[in-house]
Amino acid sequence: PLSEITVQALSFKYPNADSYTINDIDLSIHSGETIAIVGENGSGKTTLVKLLLGIYHSTKGAICINGVNIELVCRQDLYRHIAFLSQEHTIYKLTLLENLMMGLKDENETTRMSESRIQNVLESVGLKKLLTDSWQDTNIGKEFGGIELSGGEIQRLAIARIILKDCEMVVLDEPTSAIDPIQEAEILTQFIELSRNKTSVIITHRIGICTQVDRIFVMKQGCICESGSHEELLA
Ligand code: ADP
Repeated sequence: PLSEITVQALSFKYPNADSYTINDIDLSIHSGETIAIVGENGSGKTTLVKLLLGIYHSTKGAICINGVNIELVCRQDLYRHIAFLSQEHTIYKLTLLENLMMGLKDENETTRMSESRIQNVLESVGLKKLLTDSWQDTNIGKEFGGIELSGGEIQRLAIARIILKDCEMVVLDEPTSAIDPIQEAEILTQFIELSRNKTSVIITHRIGICTQVDRIFVMKQGCICESGSHEELLA
């Protein structure tokens, strides 16, 4: 199990960049915690998360998963434990069911997944209206005789997919795109609720959400300039 992620003196520079995007960061994330990462655009939030997930390699410093340097951890094993919803997530022009099953670890799991479990998750992310009699075969995309989803619905479907993957840790990089703020807050709240017993890391620009998390990391110019609970930061 994933019990702790620790980061020591982490710095990162994009190839060909003049300066560091991540500057000497120390942090730790414990099992079961819900963490929000906030900060201005360009402060390095997405880059930090991609480093924590081993998608990028650190320039300096170390990231350890349960005390083992991430560079020594098999990525395939790691990603069995972590579900990541990136800003670049995609909904494919396949059926609704195929889209939902995409993140699962193997075929056995897909076969074992009960219909009621999938229906419950779709309901919990606010997509009950997609549960028609033949919902499993519903195609996504008008050009395939299917349905067209709104930006908010695509977001909800992507969240349903990572909830069904049922990993110990979930990481969400909130898109800053076209969803209206009320819907967005609602989707995030649902996501936090559904991830209660998991380790969760959420990049968000919605400060209101921070009352619902255990700890907040505030980023500025590649550093964590403040961290703590919502009350601690207010104080
Ligand atoms: P945030 O998520 O806080 O908006 P990012 O981590 O996306 O910040 O970006 C931090 C900085 O790194 C920005 O200045 C951005 O331009 C730069 N950056 C992001 N991705 C790349 C890349 N692939 N190559 C070079 N620079 C990048």
